[in-house]
Amino acid sequence: MNAIPKPVHCKAQTKAGKPCRAAATEGGLCFFHANPNKASELGRIGGRKNRHGVADPLDPLPRLDTAIAVRTTVARLIEDVYAGKLHPRIASGLAPLLSLQLRAIERSDLGQRVAKLEKLLASPDLKGNFDGGEQPIDFGNLPNAGYYATSKV
Ligand SMILES: [Zn+2]
Repeated sequence: MNAIPKPVHCKAQTKAGKPCRAAATEGGLCFFHANPNKASELGRIGGRKNRHGVADPLDPLPRLDTAIAVRTTVARLIEDVYAGKLHPRIASGLAPLLSLQLRAIERSDLGQRVAKLEKLLASPDLKGNFDGGEQPIDFGNLPNAGYYATSKV
């Protein structure tokens, strides 16, 4: 028959209140119950190792405050997914955010340009021209300036 002695189980209880089924060491406790800090320590190391195994640590993203920055980042993410450096799940989680960011940038760019135009139109230099009033339109810069000048008289 088998002569292997039955392992002595740890005397401590698990967090769930059940008897610990790990093999005991000399003190009557298992390795983890004898060294309560070891478990979380090993867990941390394991976690770090696992993350490292999935992918190399990624470079931080640049500031995505211009359309060009978003475009560059999307190109980089595509490269990273293709090279296996970035999990496709992360990339597909980022995709809608990037397109949202791009839309927000386009909106605010457009808003700024409209505001600039509105300010320009409201400036006294131009106002006369659009009100059809006080200041005559200056045709000086047009190639046919002579034609306009004479035909008016
Ligand atoms: Zn134990």
